[in-house]
Amino acid sequence: MAIGKQEVLAWLEALACVYAENRQYLTDLDAAIGDADHGSNMDRGFAAVRAELAAREPADIRKTLETTAAILIRTVGGAAGPLYGTFFLRAGAAADGKAELRAADVVALFEAGILGVQQRGKAAPGEKTMVDALLPALAAMRDALAAGGGLTAVLEQGAAAAEAGMRATIPMQARKGRASYLGPRSVGHQDPGATSSFLLLRAVVDTWRA
Ligand code: ADP
Ligand code: MG
Repeated sequence: MAIGKQEVLAWLEALACVYAENRQYLTDLDAAIGDADHGSNMDRGFAAVRAELAAREPADIRKTLETTAAILIRTVGGAAGPLYGTFFLRAGAAADGKAELRAADVVALFEAGILGVQQRGKAAPGEKTMVDALLPALAAMRDALAAGGGLTAVLEQGAAAAEAGMRATIPMQARKGRASYLGPRSVGHQDPGATSSFLLLRAVVDTWRA
């Protein structure tokens, strides 16, 4: 299956549902080691994306992802707004001129987005951030593609690695963002941003699975 603009729109629609459903869960995670706003930040951002895309459908995949980025930067706030904004901006650039995405294009899109998040936030692996879910997902996607996997295999392995990466943040001490102010008291809690990143990838699999 190739991914066209309608599939990208369906993913973004799924994300609006996913973050609405998980608003309390993400907020509870952020209450433990932050300021209890990650769930409301993500829900507000993707609800605004849904409203804008329903009002004015962008011309192509790149414009759809760039519009998403602009709205997230404007509405999410906190640390996550600029980071997810960068993700969608870079992902959009990677889709430039493409009306359809095949497995390799999808990996290139996530690669651009994920490396953009790392560059923007300057978090290294092990610092208890969204990067701890995203980088393992990228590695797994690249491996699955190199092993000859199709789109579904690539996405399933990426989401599975993101889930493991999310759980692996529990014993980490936060070194970036608000949670780092807690020092060793941040240990023993799952990172909210790593959790929202896993949800982002799980929604792709659920939407684009062949
Ligand atoms: P804030 O911390 O400003 O309240 P959010 O609660 O929306 O913002 O997001 C918190 C999440 O942002 C954290 O759980 C972490 O995963 C992520 N985060 C914070 N700083 C960074 C960073 N420098 N790089 C990557 N992710 C980060
Ligand atoms: Mg917060």
